[in-house]
Amino acid sequence: MFQRIKSARLNNVNPVSNKRKNENQSQEFDIRKIWENENDKWRAVYDRHIKSGLPAKLAQILMRGLMMFQAPTQIYVFTFYVVPYIFEDYDSWVNYYMKVLCWFVLLNGLANWFCVILYSPAYRKSKDNPFLQISNHTGALPDRFEARCEQAASNQNQLNGHCIYDMTSKEGLPWNYCEDCSMHVPPRAHHCKFCKLCILKRDHHCFMVGNCIGFKNQRYFIILAFYAMITGLVGGYFNYRYIQGVIWPQLNSWSDLFFPLTIFNTIFGDIKGLHCLMIIHQYLETAFGFIGSAYFTSQIAITANGKTLFEVAKNVPITNRNTFNRNMKSVFGDFWLLNFLFPMTLIFRQRDDGIHWDGIKIDHNANKQWKDDGEIL
Ligand SMILES: [Zn+2]
Ligand SMILES: [Zn+2]
Repeated sequence: MFQRIKSARLNNVNPVSNKRKNENQSQEFDIRKIWENENDKWRAVYDRHIKSGLPAKLAQILMRGLMMFQAPTQIYVFTFYVVPYIFEDYDSWVNYYMKVLCWFVLLNGLANWFCVILYSPAYRKSKDNPFLQISNHTGALPDRFEARCEQAASNQNQLNGHCIYDMTSKEGLPWNYCEDCSMHVPPRAHHCKFCKLCILKRDHHCFMVGNCIGFKNQRYFIILAFYAMITGLVGGYFNYRYIQGVIWPQLNSWSDLFFPLTIFNTIFGDIKGLHCLMIIHQYLETAFGFIGSAYFTSQIAITANGKTLFEVAKNVPITNRNTFNRNMKSVFGDFWLLNFLFPMTLIFRQRDDGIHWDGIKIDHNANKQWKDDGEIL
């Protein structure tokens, strides 16, 4: 025994601590393994839920229901209570025009909301869609196409496997193959796991609206964010003034302002129904104000640079050589500032078609790379 300990000390090894070290190592190894297993399990559950489409559907129903509740109740409260209270010292004409302004904001916001939902940004196989042109009028492959194919094939790491080039465009941006939709999709189009469709110039899937934002509805989405910002911040401020001046003196306690207690006390008759409605509005307006401001400012910054939220978030190597005005016209059409007053789609159409992109360069394997990330935006 003594001999063993001595020899161990000589070799600078403590047999007891060595044993503990091994135990710790195996324990650490096991914890890591358990963690990885758990992670994989939750990832599989998450993927299964996403594939079922149930969370996206529930979010869509919830947000659309919220909009259908908020829009009519808020215009009612503003027309009959908030505007007359805030502008009571002013002329009756000021009151009248403020009410007209409220209705204008509501109708414009709703029109853009409907347009975001009704204008599908998806890319579908149909007779209207221009199919990928890979041969010229003689039926032969153009030289440029062959040169590009050779270039792509020479670098196996960058080869998508399905990447082919659009020969109708001078730049020849890559079309990619969507495994889920079984078709070639134009450059900047990406598949959405929630919508189960390929979206032209995909920006992001918006849970607040309940569908994807892409080439055909981004213009309405930006205006909707603008009106959400106005309604949330300006309307929220007026609503706050009304709560402060009229509702607050009638409340029993400050705790009545907290959402679950407000409902509870309204049911038991301590708070008027109208006052409860306006306290709920205050929460919603504050939330919409901040979310609208965040989306509006980021969308304008991204649009001015001719990019999408998807491309910025995923760091897609894209270069845009177009001017600010050209980038805005690509999204909003000519006289783009008029969109902030009326949805102008019938008069001024967007400059691009969502398929060909002049002045834009992109890494040819971009679509494949982001798809493999497995992340959703
Ligand atoms: Zn797809
Ligand atoms: Zn989507």
